[in-house]
Amino acid sequence: PTNSLNAGDDGQPKCMMGEMSNALTKKRRHLSLSQNTASLSVPDQTPMERFNKSHLSVTQLCDQSWCEIKVIYGFLQPHIKRREMRQSAVVTGSTIHLARELEANPDAVTLVGLSREDREALKLMKLTQLVQALKAGQLVREFPVFGVLEGVFFQGVVDELYQSESGELVLKELKTRCQNSLPRPVQSKGHFLQVGVYKLLFDSMVQSSMTRDNLLHHLKLRPHQAFGSELQIYAQKLGLMVATFGELVDLFLTILTFCNLQAINKLQLEYIHQGSGSLVGTTEVEFNEAQLKAELRGYLAFWRGEREPQGVDVENIEEAWKCSMCPYEESCDWRARVLKEIDGNKKTRLDGE
Ligand code: SF4
Repeated sequence: PTNSLNAGDDGQPKCMMGEMSNALTKKRRHLSLSQNTASLSVPDQTPMERFNKSHLSVTQLCDQSWCEIKVIYGFLQPHIKRREMRQSAVVTGSTIHLARELEANPDAVTLVGLSREDREALKLMKLTQLVQALKAGQLVREFPVFGVLEGVFFQGVVDELYQSESGELVLKELKTRCQNSLPRPVQSKGHFLQVGVYKLLFDSMVQSSMTRDNLLHHLKLRPHQAFGSELQIYAQKLGLMVATFGELVDLFLTILTFCNLQAINKLQLEYIHQGSGSLVGTTEVEFNEAQLKAELRGYLAFWRGEREPQGVDVENIEEAWKCSMCPYEESCDWRARVLKEIDGNKKTRLDGE
């Protein structure tokens, strides 16, 4: 993406077409997207409805902050997304995550062949243990967080929570890097969003904002469903006197209410080099609730179908490189259309000179 860009005096990328022509191009692009992106946006159906989402994961939100068009392609062509996941650094990153989880919790259990209720119940059972460990001052890893933000139910898993020597509750998220350097702002944008949303969810959980109905309704789970035999044995092993998902939810909410856990005081990102496993650096993330919630509303406007999806700004040199790493680059309608418009504008300009 170099032909329409050069660097300004301040060293920042600068578009040769000028601001007015830029605004006009963006307006035209918006209109052409509305008319032509049949597969990217569907009239009368929000992305939540179209992709059958009753709730969102925090990871989905972070993917969205990278490129909304890529999120849509991920739903439309999931096999390509799966292949990318397999081939990408995520695999290595997952191994490092798992090793850390087992280090903190060597008795971590994995049960297979569970019903949906049982899977969610296993998560809640583990969570009751993690809440108590955190309360006892232990470092905990893979801590599930969930709740309603701006009217949408979110789920996520926090990498690490611990109390600092000064008594602050610290949330740390582990990120793996191919390069032995800290990420650029455009790369860390999603990481900042992720830890901020985790804090919103964790704080609302420990401040008892969650209700039984909320949980059951958003996850669409049957409260009277009895646990499978394996899970019953596991519940007994943990000393939990519950037999159905509804009973477990009640118990979990009671534990949460009486544990008096504090809200998170500090947000940290720890970057690890994939090749060597050594620490690249740690970044402290500032938390601004009002700003984060405004950002969140902007992202949710896409899921609610209140605005068009936004792809990468391919005229911006700080953003355009994202497409070169994208498995949908060759077939991406957004990118093709924008590049065509840029070429068309360039031709018009040259014709006029
Ligand atoms: Fe987004 Fe670029 Fe991929 Fe298209 S090619 S989906 S604009 S990252």
